[in-house]
Amino acid sequence: MNLHEYQGKKILNSFGVEIQRGIVAQSPAEAVAAAKKLTEDTGTNWHVIKAQVHAGGRGKGGGVKLAKNLAEVEQISDQIIGMHLVTPQTTADGKLVSQVLVAEDVYYPGDSEPSEFYISVLMNRATGRNMIMYSTEGGMDIEAVAENTPHLIFNEEIDPTMGLLPFQARKIAFNLGLSGKAFKQMTKFVSALYSAYVKSDSSLFEINPVLKTSDDRVIAVDAKVTIDENALFRHKDYEVLRDLREENPVEVEAKAVGLSYVDLDGNVGCMVNGAGLAMATMDLIKQAGGDPANFLDVGGTADAERVEIAFNLILKDPSVKAILVNIFGGIVRCDRVAQGIIDAYKSIGSIEVPIIVRLEGTNADIAKKLIDESGLDVYSVIEFQEAADKVQEVLA
Ligand code: GDP
Ligand code: MN
Repeated sequence: MNLHEYQGKKILNSFGVEIQRGIVAQSPAEAVAAAKKLTEDTGTNWHVIKAQVHAGGRGKGGGVKLAKNLAEVEQISDQIIGMHLVTPQTTADGKLVSQVLVAEDVYYPGDSEPSEFYISVLMNRATGRNMIMYSTEGGMDIEAVAENTPHLIFNEEIDPTMGLLPFQARKIAFNLGLSGKAFKQMTKFVSALYSAYVKSDSSLFEINPVLKTSDDRVIAVDAKVTIDENALFRHKDYEVLRDLREENPVEVEAKAVGLSYVDLDGNVGCMVNGAGLAMATMDLIKQAGGDPANFLDVGGTADAERVEIAFNLILKDPSVKAILVNIFGGIVRCDRVAQGIIDAYKSIGSIEVPIIVRLEGTNADIAKKLIDESGLDVYSVIEFQEAADKVQEVLA
């Protein structure tokens, strides 16, 4: 589950990580009130107005701007709230901004050497261990650093039985070129950050930039936080942080009815029972020259009602040019699934795209007969390869 910057920062701070302070606002008036409140707490009259959307690269897209007085806070918030922010990480249509974070300006005027670092915590899948990835080259172009000068990005792996050891935090601060007070602040920052990552059951922290100010404070200026959904039961208070407006609407709808649906870019809709079969089916579609439009596992009970919901979900995607139903009838008999498909088809009325149904397992032959005799525009096959050939044929 991805979080907004302001939510991520709040979690970091609850575990003792120093952050750039801010208040979220839904309107220009709220933004002005937020700025006034921040000035009381921080003493600075300068604020940054930051679009809150689930996408990075906001600075590049004009979603992060400095305001030097309250009039500018109002004017910039008015401009950002309601805009469709286009960044290197969004589609060309951009993302609708419905709220901004009004944050204290931590890049002091005249600060000759603010240093922007990159620090993330994530799982190294090759070793199965958490690691801290960091670089002196933080800021808006970390992707370019990874591409052109990967040797400037360091990794520190953490032994799960020991946790982050003090020497590792010191090594990170040293490699970031720090000394004196800043060195000490950085070791504190990194230790708090790692502990927050573990305690919040996150699967990603990406803090870019981590700022070192000229008076040697070390603070998180940005925060991308992903919480491991499988651990949400341990964090009931995080559940409300989910922002459904940021998620794919069809995926949200599927989830609400207990189907696992993942939207993909292709043109062949898939309805499958079982995740393994879903993967195999997507391979089959690729081999047949198509591209899967989605991953949809209807699970064990492929009855008419579920099949109908599944068809309707798949048909919401306008790029779907064909639908492949690939179901293995083990516990659920194929003839029951076939009847479900027929009933669902009739209930929906007209389906414009060709449907290929491959049912294998208990009563597969009866199922095929049912579909063939239904008079509906559905191709029924039993062999995997036949299904692939048919997909190829209808796409041609
Ligand atoms: P991102 O572009 O989505 O990664 O958003 P960030 O939160 O990282 O902000 C983008 C850039 O805005 C940062 O790299 C900073 O250079 C700049 N920025 C962020 N906060 C401040 C601030 O308080 N003052 C000033 N002057 N610039 C800031
Ligand atoms: Mn950033």
